[in-house]
Amino acid sequence: MHQVACHQCDLVQKIPPLHPKATARCLRCGAILLRVKPDSINRTLAWTLAGLVLYVVAMTFPFLEIQKGGVVQETALLTGVRQLYQQDEAILSVLVFMTCVLIPLIQMGGLLYVFTSLKGKVRFKYAIPVFRLFQHVKPWSMMEIYMLGILVAMVKLGKMATIMPGPAVTAFGLLTFVLTFAVSAVDAHLVWEQLGGDG
Ligand SMILES: [Zn+2]
Repeated sequence: MHQVACHQCDLVQKIPPLHPKATARCLRCGAILLRVKPDSINRTLAWTLAGLVLYVVAMTFPFLEIQKGGVVQETALLTGVRQLYQQDEAILSVLVFMTCVLIPLIQMGGLLYVFTSLKGKVRFKYAIPVFRLFQHVKPWSMMEIYMLGILVAMVKLGKMATIMPGPAVTAFGLLTFVLTFAVSAVDAHLVWEQLGGDG
């Protein structure tokens, strides 16, 4: 049983475990309290795995290709972060590292851990604290913004050079969407119910 306060009329009521695709409505005003997301566990896992593949591509393939005097130099994202740091762009480099490297990894690692646990019906030891961490990290994912930041800064660095985005940029763009789908497939109510946490 789960206690929920109606967002329309504030009536607090208990919701029993719901069937797939079921909707719980407020007893007093009929507002929707909760809607079960169909096949949430499989869809979350599928999007998370797709995200991890894109993440590996984004980290290992060239992020930028810099052409200067007939010489082509390729830069990976992590190299770019280090170069920004060395060029006195420390704050930007830390922000890019956090939002583009660390937070997506925490999000996907957390989802993989928690949802493998749910899928296998095995209760992993840290599933509750990991899911709590995931819910805190959610609003901090602003990859798109810092992606633009690093592109602008890198273009600035290579003034007299021709700069082309590498395959990692495409992978990163796709990763942004895939992560959004993964996060929106998460049914927090279901997770807390199965983990037996207090939500
Ligand atoms: Zn109500």
